[in-house]
Amino acid sequence: MMTGGILLIIIIIGLGIISWGAFNIHSNLFLSATHQGNAENQQVALTFDDGPNPTYTPQVLELLDKHNAKATFFCIGKSVERYPYIVKQIREAGHTVGNHSYTHGPTIDLHRKKYWLSELRQTDSAIAQAIGRSPRFFRPPYGVTTPHLAKALRQSGHRVIGWRVRPYDTLESRSSARIVRTILRKVKPGAIILLHDSHSRIVPALEQLLPQLRQRGYTLVTVAKLIDEDAYV
Ligand SMILES: [Zn+2]
Repeated sequence: MMTGGILLIIIIIGLGIISWGAFNIHSNLFLSATHQGNAENQQVALTFDDGPNPTYTPQVLELLDKHNAKATFFCIGKSVERYPYIVKQIREAGHTVGNHSYTHGPTIDLHRKKYWLSELRQTDSAIAQAIGRSPRFFRPPYGVTTPHLAKALRQSGHRVIGWRVRPYDTLESRSSARIVRTILRKVKPGAIILLHDSHSRIVPALEQLLPQLRQRGYTLVTVAKLIDEDAYV
């Protein structure tokens, strides 16, 4: 009985660690992700997930351009196929394009290596079709990492990019003012900031955020520049 009880406790603790590792990209339990760059420079990297979006991505691009800021867009493969011209605009404006899976499906994390490899490759080829380059950077949907994904990434050779600052901007209840406040409170030199170009609050948030970051002396650069690595194969 005693041994059985101890065994059960060990199993529960083990499962706890695994799910913590899976849902916390910062644990680096299953794969190693980059969350920030060189902290010596006054540089930060804005990243936008879940695009390209025909309504919001062009507005985000316009604001970035107006404030002389560069950023990184982690695009969903099937949306890249639908809106390749937006992805081309992203690249031509000097921003970086990364891989954010092909379907971004709600059960994506339950899949095994073979499925993940096809998600990664379909997105790579959609991006390559749009901009003529295949991305090296990958951001897992929902920031969830699993051993199967880790195996797929070892084979595909993608570099996993996480984040340091996450204002949960996709939550309907988050006002643009609150998104900005969270970022300004948490931002530090070298930080990678997680945002989404898939909802309406992003536009007013950037209108407030971009001048304030500049005022604090930050230069907004691509992840490639922040970590001094090539963005494409
Ligand atoms: Zn996402």
